[in-house]
Amino acid sequence: MKDMKWFEEMEARIPKNEVRTRFAPSPTGYMHVGNLRTALYTYLIARNGKGKFILRIEDTDQGRLVEGAVDVIYKTMAQCHLEHDEGPDVGGPVAPYIQTERRPLYKEYAELLMERGHAYRCFCEKTESEEDSGEFDRADDPCRVLSREESDRLAAEGKPYVIRQRIPHEGTTTFHDEIFGDITVENSTLDDQVLIKRDGLPTYNFANVVDDHLMGISHVVRGSEYLSSSPKYNLLYQGFGWDIPKYVHCSPVMRDAHNKMSKRHGDPSYEDLIAQGFLTDAVLNYVALLGWSPRGEQEIYSLDELKEIFDITGISKSPAIFDIEKLKYFNAEYIRAMSPEDFAKVAEPFIRKSVTNEKYDAAAIAALLQQRTEVLNDIPEKVDFFDTLPEYDTELFVHKKSKSDKESSKDVLQKIIPEFEAVNDWNDENIMAVMVGMAEKLEAKNAKVMWPVRIAAAGKAVTPGGAVEICRILGKEETLRRLNIAVEKL
Ligand code: GLU
Repeated sequence: MKDMKWFEEMEARIPKNEVRTRFAPSPTGYMHVGNLRTALYTYLIARNGKGKFILRIEDTDQGRLVEGAVDVIYKTMAQCHLEHDEGPDVGGPVAPYIQTERRPLYKEYAELLMERGHAYRCFCEKTESEEDSGEFDRADDPCRVLSREESDRLAAEGKPYVIRQRIPHEGTTTFHDEIFGDITVENSTLDDQVLIKRDGLPTYNFANVVDDHLMGISHVVRGSEYLSSSPKYNLLYQGFGWDIPKYVHCSPVMRDAHNKMSKRHGDPSYEDLIAQGFLTDAVLNYVALLGWSPRGEQEIYSLDELKEIFDITGISKSPAIFDIEKLKYFNAEYIRAMSPEDFAKVAEPFIRKSVTNEKYDAAAIAALLQQRTEVLNDIPEKVDFFDTLPEYDTELFVHKKSKSDKESSKDVLQKIIPEFEAVNDWNDENIMAVMVGMAEKLEAKNAKVMWPVRIAAAGKAVTPGGAVEICRILGKEETLRRLNIAVEKL
């Protein structure tokens, strides 16, 4: 018989009567959009319930371990402001929070379950991979009916074994999910899954249940791919005599009507989205609405607002489709709402990808971009003309609406060059005054002057900012050099 004192001590450590949720990623090296959404919902449920948000690292599958992956998890969580109250780095009342550091504990609990009649040793020779999957057809495993004495004797002899869950052959198991409602399955469809592998390590399915209980998790929030395992989890809780937590299974995030998002098929992870120039806050906002509906019409929510209003009843049963165009819309909204200083800060690295010449002020260029940028990655191509005047065709000077053609452009540029040369203080006001004055002299609309000046300065039909801003940022000398080039071309 097991000494129950240690188990009682473990029970005594469990915090009770509070909302406690956990994000339990396996360290794979990056954050799927679906995982990020799970993390966010898990976090929001904890915050909304004034409870605790816990980070647990599920690294029992040693074959899948990726070097540095745990750091990626910390970094991503911090970047997304999903700060955890308990976890491997910050500790907590039910430490350790890394499954491999909890190794000895699972075996104890598996043996306790054996004593309670809900698990048994299985000595059959099965391949490791079958065991690892924890999912093979027991089809009346002879070990299931071994007497306890016989089982103990074989174990004492050193015969290798796994520990399996003893699932009743008759009856049904019903579990409740907050999103999917009651689900009932025939026990005969469930297999005697492996709980402890031959190497003494737990399977994911077992470690998960033991940890959720010992960490006092009140709401188990996870992807719906775990729905089908939930009856077995329930039988484990019942076998131990533990309270069953609330299950919140979230439907997958899909790339289209039929396929889940998948990194292998080129769908972006959170890190990819950030590298492409999406803002973390915009991604979080969008992801929050990917499978959860707020009560009102509002779409833009800060994390603080989400903490207030997030509720489980708004989570949808149907899969959500990830729509990058919609995300771009959110991103543009967030960009426009930023202060010019903050935008300049996030835009600068993208500006410097194409504008390497430090004499061109990144903040000044950023000001041209803020109102017309959806994704930061669009920036380099939009402003590349600052560094080098592109090769361009003089057809660009032909523009009906501005009443501009090659001849008129040449005339305007020739006349404006000496006037620009005479400007001492090269600022918006003075540059503008020269151009407006020129239009007056020519008895033409301003556009007839502005068009050729902008084309000559940028060498591009579409530019962020107009003639004045572009000339100002280029500086007097470079503007004149480019205007002279245009005259020669014409
Ligand atoms: N470690 C599992 C995963 O990364 C988590 C499953 C769960 O939250 O229960 O998919």
